[in-house]
Amino acid sequence: MQALALLLQWLAQWPVATFSAPAPALWAVVAGVAGGVLLAMRLPWSLRALGLPLLLQALLWQAQRPAPGEFELLAADVGQGNAVLVRTATHSLLYDTGPRYSVESDAGHRVLVPLLRAFDEKLATVVLSHRDSDHTGGAPAVLAMQPQAELLSSIEAAHPLQRLRAAQRCVAGRRWTWDGVDFEILHPVEADYAGFTKPNAVSCVLRIGNDRAAALLAGDIERLQEAALVARTPGLRADLLLVPHHGSKTSSSPALLDAVRPRIALVQAGYRNRFGHPAEEVAARYREREIAIVDSAHCGAASWFSGRPAELQCQRRSRNATGTTLSRRSTGPELAKLRPRRLVVPCTNSTRCTSSCPTTAQRSETTTNATTNGSRSSPAR
Ligand SMILES: [Zn+2]
Repeated sequence: MQALALLLQWLAQWPVATFSAPAPALWAVVAGVAGGVLLAMRLPWSLRALGLPLLLQALLWQAQRPAPGEFELLAADVGQGNAVLVRTATHSLLYDTGPRYSVESDAGHRVLVPLLRAFDEKLATVVLSHRDSDHTGGAPAVLAMQPQAELLSSIEAAHPLQRLRAAQRCVAGRRWTWDGVDFEILHPVEADYAGFTKPNAVSCVLRIGNDRAAALLAGDIERLQEAALVARTPGLRADLLLVPHHGSKTSSSPALLDAVRPRIALVQAGYRNRFGHPAEEVAARYREREIAIVDSAHCGAASWFSGRPAELQCQRRSRNATGTTLSRRSTGPELAKLRPRRLVVPCTNSTRCTSSCPTTAQRSETTTNATTNGSRSSPAR
């Protein structure tokens, strides 16, 4: 038995030991199965051969990507933490890697590796906004799967992750362009590394934009960093804001919201998390400005596309839906469902909500009845 285990371990190290392919759309799966059945039937080969083009629809499936100049964000359903996949025509970036759930389980193994496999992604860059475990918990699994990805982070030189991949320091002013889409680190500045007291203070803030739309991923920065960011950055406007510090009272100051003026504010936080994220007073601050605020505990995985900046697609159809979630089972059909579903925004007076917005009564009801996504909270400091 031991010899067999050793043999399997040795075989597992071969470069072609595992095979993964992008998850096809449902129609391609059906075509592939039909083609396979046709090929296996006891029919003349001239008829069986008709199954081959059907089978190839599934085998040669390529995940769709944004057109040049456009980009899309997929905020994975990881519970209490951040993890956002950013894709352009030929490049991909992962902003944070979600939380660690236990000694044996983290968002990398359970959510992000299956997700990246389903999209057949080769990440160019992994950004770890800061060292807290709700942002770095899945990093070992992701880095092991993506040996080519460069690491950009504010983690310190002695951090254990540096042994897996040497990190380049996140510093404001670093910018690059992929396929006509601009990326820029806006925070922290070099001086912030000299005297910060909390890791949140050096969260990497990333702005992604083209001429028509922009998204701002704000990590866990707090009020002081927000004020500094607003003071030194003239063009902070963005259509989508990844709400800083998961909607904590420490963050989302009026100055930041007035400078960014997002259409949609996305909170990545665990269902009934012990921190109470997003804080009600923070959510009210967004609603006062007619900003649609959406939380991942009810939306599930969220997808946003620069070509339709006023829309967000939630993986769950409604706030109290009990449907499967991307984080639990990242299979092809579920990924395929992501696109057609439209936003169900949990907001009150926003003029940007779709007609399917729940009413106030529905909201209170669904808040009571909503089902958990099964993710455990990890400290969000
Ligand atoms: Zn956090």
